[in-house]
Amino acid sequence: MAVEMEMMQLEEQMTFDCPHCGASNEIALDPAYRRQRIMEECQVCSRDMDLRIEYDSGETMVHALAA
Ligand SMILES: [Zn+2]
Repeated sequence: MAVEMEMMQLEEQMTFDCPHCGASNEIALDPAYRRQRIMEECQVCSRDMDLRIEYDSGETMVHALAA
């Protein structure tokens, strides 16, 4: 439990839907980075996704686009 809480401070687990198949995917974000683009493969259909990460007023948003 203590380990989990330490991890939470370093990484933020975000959930988003795959733009191809609609499956729910998870990604761990490092809050030290701001506004980034990440290329990821869907955990379900393996197609490429173009993730735009935005930090706005302390809120993290993930926009998943079909790559
Ligand atoms: Zn997918």
